[in-house]
Parts: sequence; structure tokens; C-alpha cells
Amino acid sequence: MSDRAHHLAKASERFWSKVERKTKEECWLWMGARRQKGYGRFRVEANGHGYAHRFAYELLVDEIPEGMTIDHLCRVPSCVNPAHMEVITASENALRAARSRGVSVSPSALIERLQALYDAGVRDFATRDMKALWESNGLSRQWAQKHLKRLIEAEALGYSGEQQRYLLTKRPAVA
Ligand SMILES: [Zn+2]
Repeated sequence: MSDRAHHLAKASERFWSKVERKTKEECWLWMGARRQKGYGRFRVEANGHGYAHRFAYELLVDEIPEGMTIDHLCRVPSCVNPAHMEVITASENALRAARSRGVSVSPSALIERLQALYDAGVRDFATRDMKALWESNGLSRQWAQKHLKRLIEAEALGYSGEQQRYLLTKRPAVA
């Protein structure tokens, strides 16, 4: 085992204790400390940059080449699911960020992300994850608040996750 592989393996138990690991399709939310913009903070010897999502990528996929950055295809900064990441150059990343400020993803994809956060225990529209979700998609604070309220109401009425989703997509009051 190389030095690097050894360091990764040693830290992995501590790493996974802070992750809500789900299926490959879903976001794996980082439950530990956060850095700016909502990225998970995880510092180990082999991971000098201290980002949880980069550690996850290097642990499960491959070493990230020098100078390359990770683009979160799911747009959830605290997500550490490597299946939702793409390794790209810094300039490509900047280009995509600029583009995404003007373009938003489909309403149903947004609802799915909102639901994922809700399922992970988020009940406050002003949390970092919730903020990242609406801000990066050009939505308003009201949008997040309204949709979260609907989820809470639906749960109070005893609706299942599937029914909750249906209720939200039926009335997608996207700002
Ligand atoms: Zn994700």
C-alpha cells in the first residue's frame, strides 16, 4: 500500500462517520463542519486542501490531478457523493458557474433536491444547504420557505415521501 493509500484508509472511518451515505443517485450530505459556501471541511494528512468532497473523490475514485477542481453536478456543495462530481479545470468551473447563474435546472430536479435535504433532517429554509440550493439556482428565499412549509405540512398530514413529492410538483411555485 502506498503512503497516500495508507493515509486515505486510516482517515476513512472518521470520514464516513460524518456522512449520510445513501444510494448512488442521492446526495450524500456531509454532517460535519463546513467551509465557506457550504462545502464540507475534512482535513487529513493526505488531503491538504481540507475539503470533504475532494477527500471522498480521492478515496473512492482517483487522485485529483494538480490544478483541477471538482464541479458538483448536483449543485449541493455539502454533497460528498463522487457520482455527482466531475473533475474539471478551474477555468471550466468558472465558466459553468457563470452560466448557471443565468440558467436554472428543471423544477422537478429542484424539488428532488429540496426533498433530499428535508429527508436529511433540514427543517429551516435558512440553513447553508437550503441557501446554496436556492441561491445557486436563482430562486428566492420565499421559494425555499414556501416549499419547505409544504413538506412540513404534508408530513403532519401523514403523507409518505412519494406523496409529498407529488404534492410539491403539482404546485411547483418556482420563483
Ligand atoms: Zn449530490
